Amino acid sequence: MRITVTGAGLAGLTLAGALLDRGVPPGAVTMRERRGGPVEAAGAETFLGVPPGLLDAVGGRSRYPSATRYLDRAPAIDGIAVITPDGDRPPTRPTPGWRFITHREIVRALEADIADAAVPVRYGVDGPPDDEERRTEDWIVGADGVHSAVRGTVEPDACAMPVGQRAAFGSLPPRAVDLDVESGVLTFVQGAENSALGILRTGDADLVFARYSATASSVSGLGFPVVPGALAAYDRLLTEGRTIDLFEAPWGRWRSGSVVLTGDAAHGKSPAYGRGAVDAVDDARILAPALLDGADAVDGALAEILRRERAVRAASRR
Ligand SMILES: Cc1cc2nc3c(=O)[nH]c(=O)nc-3n(C[C@H](O)[C@H](O)[C@H](O)COP(=O)(O)OP(=O)(O)OC[C@H]3O[C@@H](n4cnc5c(N)ncnc54)[C@H](O)[C@@H]3O)c2cc1C
Repeated sequence: MRITVTGAGLAGLTLAGALLDRGVPPGAVTMRERRGGPVEAAGAETFLGVPPGLLDAVGGRSRYPSATRYLDRAPAIDGIAVITPDGDRPPTRPTPGWRFITHREIVRALEADIADAAVPVRYGVDGPPDDEERRTEDWIVGADGVHSAVRGTVEPDACAMPVGQRAAFGSLPPRAVDLDVESGVLTFVQGAENSALGILRTGDADLVFARYSATASSVSGLGFPVVPGALAAYDRLLTEGRTIDLFEAPWGRWRSGSVVLTGDAAHGKSPAYGRGAVDAVDDARILAPALLDGADAVDGALAEILRRERAVRAASRR
């Protein structure tokens, strides 16, 4: 069995581990990654809220000791609170064991664990697999994110679609944001057009993000029920922090012959669902055994992933 995984992100790295756990030898899995080398740890990146045991289904601490250590140390989310457009504050939902992680640091830790397991990673390789790989590999997995290049070999002409929103995120000094929020409670402030401000206040920092209309240059006109001073802090984030335009994956086929899509490459969705990382890891749990059992099993796995996706999207956005 030979498997090439394009994309050393959450989906690709957890799939590699899940394959090793099912007895696939490390040399039988090759990872191709566009980045020139392993991701660096320092610096703020996209924040993700994740439940406890994120990696349990794909080997947990024994497969991913560095990533589990990172999860253990990441700021705790003790609860999730929402401030509605009317300024109401429904009861906080407790979230025992949840963590607020950065995309960059969890990927760095997963990468270290996969390197320790001796899975070869070819860095600086961009784009879909070449003809030689298509001839020699039993499976080619596209785990290359929402802007997947591998998708073109499954669904030619299918491109990621803009959500019409942008996200800004960053780390501000403690209490830089003039908001009355409880420390350790991930708080969302809802605005117009599905826009949201988010904050997790820790002892060390206000970890903040905003999701807002891609045509807006300020959050001030978006009807957030908070004091102007707080909006000014978020507006500084929009101009000085890191911002990204948000995209969703087009829905279509997720397999063509020996090429299979997983993670955001298959079902990347708006961060409003707060689920993409969790689902990328869950894909690995479902897909890894199926890859060893052949095309029918893979189609069954993709059908299960599709069922989960439909259920997630039917549930309300936060
Ligand atoms: C603002 C924001 C907030 C979010 N919040 C949450 C949250 O709270 N909870 C949650 O669960 N999820 C959240 N998500 C979603 C989560 O980050 C993604 O769903 C998850 O990272 C998807 O993992 P992936 O491995 O499929 O893709 P990625 O993590 O994007 O990894 C893809 C990898 O493929 C590589 N690559 C790309 N193109 C190529 C190519 N052509 N050739 C080779 N390699 C390539 C990339 O360099 C990258 O390493 C959020 C996302 C955003 C943007």
